[in-house]
Amino acid sequence: MSKKDGFLKYKRELPEGRPPKERVGDFKEILQPFPETKTKEQAARCMDCGVPFCHSGCPLGNIIPEFNDAVYREDWEEATEIMYSTNNFPEFTGRICPAPCEASCVLGINKPPVTIEHIEKMIGEKSFELGYIKANPPESRTEKRVAVIGSGPAGLAAADQLNKAGHWVTVFERDDRIGGLLRYGIPDFKLEKWVVERRLNLLSEEGVHFKVNSEVGRNVNPDMLKEDYDAIVICTGSTVPRDLPIPGRDLKGIHFAMEFLKQQNKEVAGDDVADKVSAKGKHVVVIGGGDTGSDCIGTSHRQDAASVLQLELLPQPPRKRGDLDPWPLWPMTLRTSSSHEEGGERKWSVLTKEFIGDENGLTHIKLVDIEWVNQGGRQNMQEIQGTERDVPCELALLSIGFTHPESPLLDAFGVEKTKGGTVADKNFKTNIENIFAAGDARRGQSLVVWAISEGREAAREVDKYLMGTTELPSKNDSF
Ligand code: FAD
Repeated sequence: MSKKDGFLKYKRELPEGRPPKERVGDFKEILQPFPETKTKEQAARCMDCGVPFCHSGCPLGNIIPEFNDAVYREDWEEATEIMYSTNNFPEFTGRICPAPCEASCVLGINKPPVTIEHIEKMIGEKSFELGYIKANPPESRTEKRVAVIGSGPAGLAAADQLNKAGHWVTVFERDDRIGGLLRYGIPDFKLEKWVVERRLNLLSEEGVHFKVNSEVGRNVNPDMLKEDYDAIVICTGSTVPRDLPIPGRDLKGIHFAMEFLKQQNKEVAGDDVADKVSAKGKHVVVIGGGDTGSDCIGTSHRQDAASVLQLELLPQPPRKRGDLDPWPLWPMTLRTSSSHEEGGERKWSVLTKEFIGDENGLTHIKLVDIEWVNQGGRQNMQEIQGTERDVPCELALLSIGFTHPESPLLDAFGVEKTKGGTVADKNFKTNIENIFAAGDARRGQSLVVWAISEGREAAREVDKYLMGTTELPSKNDSF
């Protein structure tokens, strides 16, 4: 194998998914094993460009050409070192990141891009398998105490970094298990929970303290936190779902996606879930086309729905990049996920007008096709006459986004909010001197990779605040 011409010799290849018919019978991850030699070939496709756009395309600033080279040379120890210099949790991003890095890969201009996400997953796995990642508690402690509120990827990354800097870190989580949306949003078929557990065990061994069933503002007093901790990091996510207040919204059978997904994740974890929202034998309509919508589709198939229809207000994106998102921008299109391979129908440019039903609940939804019309530079939607119809639907899942974090906690601390309701900050610092924020609570609903990036950057600001200076890295250091 020659690295110089790897991109000419090898095609883009990824592990295959298990056949859709087989995989909808369980909640296990869908990808099949992939030989190590093939991963090495994939790493060899990296052209080691003079200006690696993949690197700046990654919200973490991952040093991608360097770790590709190490993987090509089968030096997993060096690959581990390079990876962890910018990314705390490659085992998460390697499984579920939409990989903006691949969208900015230079090879992607006229060939399929390097399989960076897969290579990242392999480095994450090898780092554990070969023992390069093991508990490494800080040698000394600063005796400063930091409270992190929320245990999603932002909170975990902030906790990891602050613990590495020698502070005592306690993570407060209102749920009964740690992990935020990694635990109770993203289904196991995308991210099995042993992967999350393995990381949490390591963080615990390194000295991070986790408190579950601890909701700050309810059973944990915010004033107590202010007194007992030198700094606080708000990583509570953007959890308020966008609603669809149309006629019939009060009917039984209409649920927010997160009710449905969380219950399923709990059941897979072995919990008994009372009054579970179930898709079994029902005509399911998923309203909304993003990641949450796809996860509802995959879950509905696994629950044996009679049919699954996904609706999206936006028009079907072109298969190729358009003028609005030329390379190396990340394509502004809604993704097709593995769940779409498993069946169901997807409709674009459709407006949901009404939920229809009776005293037993939802039976149909009224839809109409729309077209997007440019009016004075603005794209406005117009109903297409004669397309209104009622479609059978016994379970409607609303996955049309999240508006902002919940207000009571922010109000209890006196933290200022933006007009949109997210935490207002300057460089991760809120208006309250020792309170910081990171992740979806600060930037609005986003991605795991951004949450990790923000957790890391916020930790740096906390460390600077506590110690006057910091040695924690910033993604800007890697450019
Ligand atoms: P979260 O992960 O939301 O964690 C916040 C945590 O704070 C929660 O555990 C919550 O219980 C806790 N909390 C809230 N209030 C309090 C309080 N007062 N006291 C204590 N704890 C509190 N991104 C991707 O990159 N790839 C994907 O495939 C993907 N799929 C997704 C699927 C779904 C269904 C959803 C909803 C999102 C998905 N995302 C995906 C987005 C991604 O999960 C989020 O951007 C990311 O988890 C945000 O991280 P966070 O740490 O900011 O918040």
